[in-house]
Amino acid sequence: MRTTTGWRATGPAELRRTTLQRRDLRPDDIAVRVDHCGVCHTDLHALRGYDRHAKTPLVPGHEFTGVVTETGPQVTAFSVGDPVAVGNIVDSCGACAMCEAGQENFCHSFPTLTYGGTDRQDGSTTLGGYCREYVVRDAFAYPLPPGLDPAAAAPLLCAGVTVWEPLRSLGVGPGSRVAVAGLGGLGHLAVKMAVALGATTTVISRTPGKREDAQRLGAHDLVVSTDTRQMDAARDTFDVVVDTVSASHDLAPYLRTVAMDGTLSLLGYLGPVTVEAMDLLVGRKRLSSSGSAGRPATAGMLRFCADNGIAADVEVLPSSQVHTALERLGRNDVRYRFVLDLSDLE
Ligand code: NAP
Repeated sequence: MRTTTGWRATGPAELRRTTLQRRDLRPDDIAVRVDHCGVCHTDLHALRGYDRHAKTPLVPGHEFTGVVTETGPQVTAFSVGDPVAVGNIVDSCGACAMCEAGQENFCHSFPTLTYGGTDRQDGSTTLGGYCREYVVRDAFAYPLPPGLDPAAAAPLLCAGVTVWEPLRSLGVGPGSRVAVAGLGGLGHLAVKMAVALGATTTVISRTPGKREDAQRLGAHDLVVSTDTRQMDAARDTFDVVVDTVSASHDLAPYLRTVAMDGTLSLLGYLGPVTVEAMDLLVGRKRLSSSGSAGRPATAGMLRFCADNGIAADVEVLPSSQVHTALERLGRNDVRYRFVLDLSDLE
């Protein structure tokens, strides 16, 4: 085993800097010096639910960029010194129909998550990117395209790809009418991508003060979700609603904004939801969801972002300020993604 330094959960929303173990490189592994790791709301959900007596360790972080420091003997796609990016899936069975279709995120025997997953070979719990080094199968690392700032690109690997997948699979393009509900880490990237795809894009937000930001990001309008008059005016309007709201919420007002034969893609809150069938029946509306993406779509998303100059709006903090980042994220005080600079873990 090799050792590195990282931030491990010691209780609900509480982390401690500590020494962590990483596996020795397998033939198809690369070692990555983690330079930047985004702080996803999922990390906050995981940390808030963490029991200090839990049997499995928790080191969050599933969207990071860094540099290859070592390669296993079978690795041909990467060399030492290459800039790379890693998202929230680090392995899959490679043999099921989903993996063969390039949808490793839906692997029938469950994809190995970057943290809190179970390593397919030794059964250990995977530890995430709030650390200085990660060891990963080469197939689940992506070359970071030139021109993308490594700190601002890190959130593309979870927030970005999560919203890219429904935009891509629902055929969003010129003439599409897209709404993005919740202007946060996922939401602001959804706006940038939808605009770059040529869609007329609207933000649905509970925060009127985000109007200027929405416009700066390229959105054509902002509808205040708590203003029933504004929500009524948006009735039957959007071909696609990308719902990134991080808390449980009533879907009915959002479904009413979906146009005939349109789709609401629920990406944020992933717990149980209640839907009135009539809210789907009237207008033949669809309710869908999505999570992460497979390897081909992830690589395609990175190319699209590099070609269109898309990266996250980030506030970079030294990793020693991880608690500040989490606390501010919890109260919606982020424009629009915290990224940890892990160089202070040397
Ligand atoms: P975030 O940066 O905190 O953004 C969430 C946004 O939701 C907030 O900025 C806010 O936008 C809105 N919001 C929050 N609480 C709300 C409430 N009670 N009522 C209405 N709106 C509320 O979070 P994120 O990192 O983008 O993540 C968003 C969600 O996606 C999280 O639940 C996360 O776990 C989930 N997620 C899912 C996947 C997946 O694979 N499907 C991947 C990554 C993350 P406004 O101020 O504009 O209203």
